[in-house]
Amino acid sequence: MSPSELNVDLHSHSIISDGVLAPAQLAARAKQNGVDVWALTDHDEVRGIPEARAAALALGLRYITGVEISVTWAGKTIHIVGLNIDENNTELVNGLAKTRSGRERRARDMAAELASRAGIHGSYEGALKYVGNPDLISRSHFARYLVEIGLCANVSEVFKHYLSDGNPGFVPHRWATLAEAVGWIRGAGGVAVVAHPGRYDLSPVAFDAFFTEFKDLGGLAIETVTGSHTVDQYDEYTKIAAQYGFLSSRGSDFHSPQDAEIDIGGLPALPKMAKPVWASWF
Ligand code: AMP
Ligand code: MN
Ligand code: MN
Ligand code: MN
Repeated sequence: MSPSELNVDLHSHSIISDGVLAPAQLAARAKQNGVDVWALTDHDEVRGIPEARAAALALGLRYITGVEISVTWAGKTIHIVGLNIDENNTELVNGLAKTRSGRERRARDMAAELASRAGIHGSYEGALKYVGNPDLISRSHFARYLVEIGLCANVSEVFKHYLSDGNPGFVPHRWATLAEAVGWIRGAGGVAVVAHPGRYDLSPVAFDAFFTEFKDLGGLAIETVTGSHTVDQYDEYTKIAAQYGFLSSRGSDFHSPQDAEIDIGGLPALPKMAKPVWASWF
């Protein structure tokens, strides 16, 4: 089988960040859905990897180590996926711990904002019911709680009305720098990939500056086929990858069977002209 024919899913989340399944459950679901090569990419966390790897190998699933690092670039939040990392690399482990460290304070501030600006009380405690890793309280956990109390019909409505920039529960936060994230990934022997580029609210000029800086730092790939891109964006970002000389990655960004639009392993193949980031891996 050629690399582009494999069902490769290099972006997914477990309960160790803001997904709902345990790493081993996610491995089983990936296997069931026909995935050949899988990466768990929890936000700012690598502690799900041992369980994920053991489960994947037991199922005969090819396993790639991964992480999704939160970055602040020009005041915007950008996600950088690291693949094929050594998850025990000290600078990476310490960098991720630093990146996670403000989440608790931010969550309390979000709850205070939701209370004072939207009259929603108890959201910190409510969100905590969904948290699997006390170091990784996320907006997703708040979103699940706000759906639970009937405020919105689904998680994406909660983001639209409460948790995204400009809404009452949004609290600005400073994550890692782009140079730090790419540096930690490369220092751990990995490949840096821009996650879901179609989601960022950047002008064409800012996008060019961003991709140029990412490339200069040693970034190698962008996600072209991802759960949050439209079919048109698969082609649009494949062309952009060609312009900058980036390889392409593919990942569902699966979090939960309840709010999944695209299941793990459920994406179409990369466009023909894309160069798979995994082509040289096996
Ligand atoms: P945080 O790292 O706490 O800022 O949370 C970011 C996470 O929120 C992302 O990784 C997604 O899982 C989720 N998220 C962000 N925007 C949306 C959206 N519009 N709809 C659903 N989930 C979202
Ligand atoms: Mn997430
Ligand atoms: Mn992301
Ligand atoms: Mn993700």
